[in-house]
Amino acid sequence: MPVARSEQRLIGVLALQGDFAEHLDALRAAGARAIEVRTLAHLEQVDGLVIPGGESTTIARLLLIFDLMEPLRRRIEDGMPVWGTCAGAILLATDVPGLDRPPIAVMPMSVERNAFGPQTASFEADLDIAGLEGAPLRAVFIRAPVITSVGDGVEVLARLEDGRIVAARSGRLLATSFHPELTPDHRMHALFVGMVRQAVPAQAAASDDGRARGEVA
Ligand code: GLN
Repeated sequence: MPVARSEQRLIGVLALQGDFAEHLDALRAAGARAIEVRTLAHLEQVDGLVIPGGESTTIARLLLIFDLMEPLRRRIEDGMPVWGTCAGAILLATDVPGLDRPPIAVMPMSVERNAFGPQTASFEADLDIAGLEGAPLRAVFIRAPVITSVGDGVEVLARLEDGRIVAARSGRLLATSFHPELTPDHRMHALFVGMVRQAVPAQAAASDDGRARGEVA
């Protein structure tokens, strides 16, 4: 049965740099309303946020330039669910050697950037992910980071065959090294939509007047 529009949460995708368009499509395919987040006004409207892959140094700089770093940190501390993929996962981590700007630093874990080498060392792998039903998920790794250690309260959701951690969750924060928005399998997006639904009761979700808020679709 389709979900009534008023019962859908509004999920933002940080759209400063990186592959945000693919996330918007995948979120909508998973049943959410989704908008690009570029300004404080956008950020204030959303019930959850995806930080896409791209270049973590660039996204960190743009968050500072557009005065979004502190407001985003505050919303996360207030309980907004956030999912970081690849560069987005790097930005969530509290410890990131080699990042020339401070990350958002809200998820207690250490991350090694470009852990598999350059772009030409990109690869795909089938992953068993805790919380996903069915077959392993085909995961695309592009200059991907690895989660080298996790702190208190961080649950490891997936590892490569060699044991390296590539997905983790800490309460309302989700981090994946790979790019689920680049494959037609939307189970990770559905998982995040479920996290947002659980965190934000229907009556508290962003209202139906999407156009007034600059909603994309
Ligand atoms: N290597 C990039 C970084 O450090 C991340 C790559 C990606 O998001 N696909 O930001």
